[in-house]
Amino acid sequence: MHPNIAREIAQIHVTRWGHAMIRPVPGLLFGDALATARAPIARVRPCAADITGLPLFEEAFYAGVRAAEAALTQLGHAATSIIES
Ligand SMILES: Cc1cc2nc3c(=O)[nH]c(=O)nc-3n(C[C@H](O)[C@H](O)[C@H](O)COP(=O)(O)OP(=O)(O)OC[C@H]3O[C@@H](n4cnc5c(N)ncnc54)[C@H](O)[C@@H]3O)c2cc1C
Repeated sequence: MHPNIAREIAQIHVTRWGHAMIRPVPGLLFGDALATARAPIARVRPCAADITGLPLFEEAFYAGVRAAEAALTQLGHAATSIIES
């Protein structure tokens, strides 16, 4: 893909990330685990793709907006949802 790549590379650093993307194994999407993952912990509202069960941008966005809107409602600043009508 890159004819001069060997000449251009000075160093390569390889890092294994401790946290990979969530994988929807059988039973995850319709089991109890995700409800537990979504449950607020005091004022902390879990969000991101980890609580949807599917590693997709749309899922991360949806979970983030839902968490933010729930937090606003809890703080007395409820507004029309941008994802639910
Ligand atoms: C190579 C690749 C290609 C992909 N292609 C697609 C695609 O085409 N379409 C699609 O829908 N999805 C794709 N995905 C999946 C998509 O990127 C993820 O599902 C999505 O980014 C998850 O968003 P998130 O907010 O849940 O998590 P992330 O995007 O991982 O965000 C989590 C953030 O939290 C930060 N963080 C972690 N720990 C801490 C801490 N202790 N303190 C502070 N910050 C912290 C991280 O640095 C990161 O910025 C792809 C993923 C990869 C890796």
